[in-house]
Amino acid sequence: MEKLIPIINRLQDTLLSANIPNSISLPQIVVVGSQSSGKSSVLESIVGRDFLPRGSGIVTRCPLQLKLVRINEDEEYGVFSHVGDCKFTDFSLIRDEIINRTQELTGNGKGITTKPIDLTIYSPKVLDISLVDLPGIVKISVSGQSEVIAKQIREMIIEYIQNPNAIILAVSPANNDLANSDALHIAQMVDPRGERTLGVLTKIDIMDRGTDALSMLNGSVFPLRLGYVGIICRSQEDINNGMPMDIHSQLEDRFFKESPIYGRISDRLGVRYLRTRLNKLLMDHINNTIPEVKKNIMDLLQAVESELESYGQIINEKEEKSAFLLTIIQKVVKSYQDNIAGKNLKNVTEELLGGARINYIFHSIFKNMISSINPLDEVSDQDIRTAIMNSSGLRGSLFVPETAFEVLIKQQIPRLKDPSLRCMSLVYEELKQIIYKLDIPELERFSNLKEKVSEVINNLLSRCLEPTGHMISDIVEVEMGYINSKHPQFIGGTNAILELQNVIKSPSQDMLIDKKPVTPVPARRDETPPPSSSFWPFSRSQTRPQRELKFEDLENERQDNSGPPMRIRANMNPTQEESQQTELIKILIKSYYNIVKTNVSDLVPKTIMGFLVNKSREELQRELVKELYKDNLYDVLLEEGGNIGPRREKCIKIGKGLRKAIDILNEVREYRISD
Ligand code: GDP
Ligand code: MG
Repeated sequence: MEKLIPIINRLQDTLLSANIPNSISLPQIVVVGSQSSGKSSVLESIVGRDFLPRGSGIVTRCPLQLKLVRINEDEEYGVFSHVGDCKFTDFSLIRDEIINRTQELTGNGKGITTKPIDLTIYSPKVLDISLVDLPGIVKISVSGQSEVIAKQIREMIIEYIQNPNAIILAVSPANNDLANSDALHIAQMVDPRGERTLGVLTKIDIMDRGTDALSMLNGSVFPLRLGYVGIICRSQEDINNGMPMDIHSQLEDRFFKESPIYGRISDRLGVRYLRTRLNKLLMDHINNTIPEVKKNIMDLLQAVESELESYGQIINEKEEKSAFLLTIIQKVVKSYQDNIAGKNLKNVTEELLGGARINYIFHSIFKNMISSINPLDEVSDQDIRTAIMNSSGLRGSLFVPETAFEVLIKQQIPRLKDPSLRCMSLVYEELKQIIYKLDIPELERFSNLKEKVSEVINNLLSRCLEPTGHMISDIVEVEMGYINSKHPQFIGGTNAILELQNVIKSPSQDMLIDKKPVTPVPARRDETPPPSSSFWPFSRSQTRPQRELKFEDLENERQDNSGPPMRIRANMNPTQEESQQTELIKILIKSYYNIVKTNVSDLVPKTIMGFLVNKSREELQRELVKELYKDNLYDVLLEEGGNIGPRREKCIKIGKGLRKAIDILNEVREYRISD
């Protein structure tokens, strides 16, 4: 692992120092084999430290999940997850703790458990990998072991080795028949193509005299794609005698080199070579994951770069600041105008924005508010009759008085004012919202500027609000000021009578006043309709005027009758004529009210557009320049918000780290090619 360690470590250090989560996950190495085949010994050899309990019988009775973590300190120590922060610097104490913990987890008998012991070894000499030591495969349970133990162990092993990211070290003792190797059989179950199973032959030193491991090593007994590595670990006697691992390693070397049988292939034997093989497997794995890792790093780099861009350049010079501020002001104005014009296509699907919202307010909300007003809602028939009587005075009315109609319609027109002012408020609120929708990164960067821009816009809007409100009130006022009975769209008296006659002929439900049958007003078929210019042709005694009647007629008649008009309430039971007059007035009110509604629906949006929307749009630039473009304000306005500075720094640092990581990844590739 010597070659790999520096590269991977550099990569990980680089990522770590730039605060980037380590995206290179190395595979877990799982050691499997039958009981006492030498699994724990193999694991120790790989780590290069003496810390695992070993011996005959079932020693490993729970999974040991061993994590190796490289540190830059010289000290080497272990930490157990079940013990807490305690550092075990004495490796023999680590072994004792494993024995204790195994007993705690399994009891004093010979039972096993799937509950793992978690041990992390920190050392400057290791690569960040994780290894798993497992109980050995047993065929028959010995006394003190539960009957199902063999099955339990197999299930536990399979659970670990079926992870496709696991490298299986299938340990078989060379002094047993390889064809019967439990390790190889179980590995074959989860890795039938042998892509991640490395055979390890232990105990080559204690084979029967006259036998050797050559045929096993070259794969002719049990072929394995990744092949076999033969090794010699310390015997129980060596352990008992306290033989250090490095001395044993030298003895192992010498054994293979000087052996007449293994001498030829000694460079592919031994613990050192096993480490090289594992190194290569890890390297292959890393190489396979590099494109993915690289892509992730590239994506991250891109995100960091665009974030950095959003924070903008650092500006120091006064002239720079002045020009910069002007650019931002222009951006704000353009964005405000675009928002109103509906050009802001960002989030176009999410919600209506700016101009589209205003349109919606005019054409949907306001229109509905206006059209839902029923002009007759607040006038009862009796009110109408009272108005007729009050307007016609004592003498009794010969004609349905125009004054009654005017009085009644004038009562109804002001009802249009509230919805009109409400429409204005809605648009005003909408314009105020635009400030939050301006997509200008500089405003996020300079919070004082954003606050000030928002203040200027709000002030401008509220200044425009007053004249808009006045104009709207005036529009309603103007409608009340003069009732234009000659309006081309107004039904007029004559047509109203015709309509009334038609209704009486085929009375609809709402025309059946007091549910009393109404005698139809006779109308002759050959009659041509009376001229529409006459407004009030309807009289008590005539169904149709003998001549064209004018307002003056009414005036004259009123003058004939001396004495002040009396205000009286109409009687509860109207005569047929009174009912008809009432209906007639209703028709006239409805018709005229529609005209007023049309006028108001047309003029109010125009007023709001002209006095509020367009005005604010036109004046924004001037206002912003007037309020913001001042020498003494540059520094305050262009002061970066609280965390922009640190965030920019962080981005720069991460960006550097990511670029370096990409370089290192490229190096791994080159190293692999030249390997
Ligand atoms: P495990 O049960 O598979 O974990 O096996 P251990 O690692 O505990 O080893 C079982 C016994 O075999 C121990 O006493 C080891 O010292 C011994 N042993 C392991 N490998 C070798 C080897 O290569 N040569 C010799 N002579 N003894 C070994
Ligand atoms: Mg063991």
